[in-house]
Amino acid sequence: MIKEFKADLHIHTCLSPCAELEMSPLEVVKTAAQKGIDIIAVTDHNSAENIIAAGKAAKNLELTVLAGMEIASSEEAHILALFDKPESALELQAAVYKNLLPGENDEALFGEQIVVNEKDEVLDFNKRMLISATTLSAHSIVQKIHSIGGLAIASHIDKDAFSIISQLGFIPEDLKFDAIEMSPNMEREKAEQAFQPYNSFTWVSSSDAHHLQDIGRRTTSFFMKEPTIKEMALTFKNIDGRKAVWK
Ligand SMILES: [Zn+2]
Ligand SMILES: [Zn+2]
Repeated sequence: MIKEFKADLHIHTCLSPCAELEMSPLEVVKTAAQKGIDIIAVTDHNSAENIIAAGKAAKNLELTVLAGMEIASSEEAHILALFDKPESALELQAAVYKNLLPGENDEALFGEQIVVNEKDEVLDFNKRMLISATTLSAHSIVQKIHSIGGLAIASHIDKDAFSIISQLGFIPEDLKFDAIEMSPNMEREKAEQAFQPYNSFTWVSSSDAHHLQDIGRRTTSFFMKEPTIKEMALTFKNIDGRKAVWK
């Protein structure tokens, strides 16, 4: 049976240098559940080290936590990767870590990158250069995501920076995104005027939250059978009445 699942598929935690320290996995999942969201994805920059904690913290909540990541391609385009299982996100992380810029994160300049467990205890400060572009092309990232069984979404395509359109000028036809994302303050009507050539994609929109208060400021309703990647893939293709809707 098809049901409605309210989803916020783009949330950063305190592992992202630009996110607030209050964004611990525990606080993120608690806030999402309080706001009546059914599915979230934790999508830190070039890393998935807080994914397992987020999943564990949500164990007793009515909330599905997808394992995600927001990868910066060599063209400086952001791409969301979504998986059912943390192991898949960690497999992608291994490939991404091999392709990060050398050097350490400058905490004073970019912020700390904090790895936290499900009880809000600090485990580690990640020293890698997570905020920079990787040396992986957008094509190779999308290919890698698919080879691990995940979904690849072009992040905030309406933004003037760090989006596939801002970086390449268009979405190449052979770049097989499963969906494209509009940023949270993009109005539907404006998007329809500006991005009409990309109508063949399913459009989603999420919060891209870096602060607790922003979680759920924009959600997409998925009409599908269960909160899984497989169902989402069918939804992106509008199979048997499934659809994804945002205003
Ligand atoms: Zn981004
Ligand atoms: Zn983001």
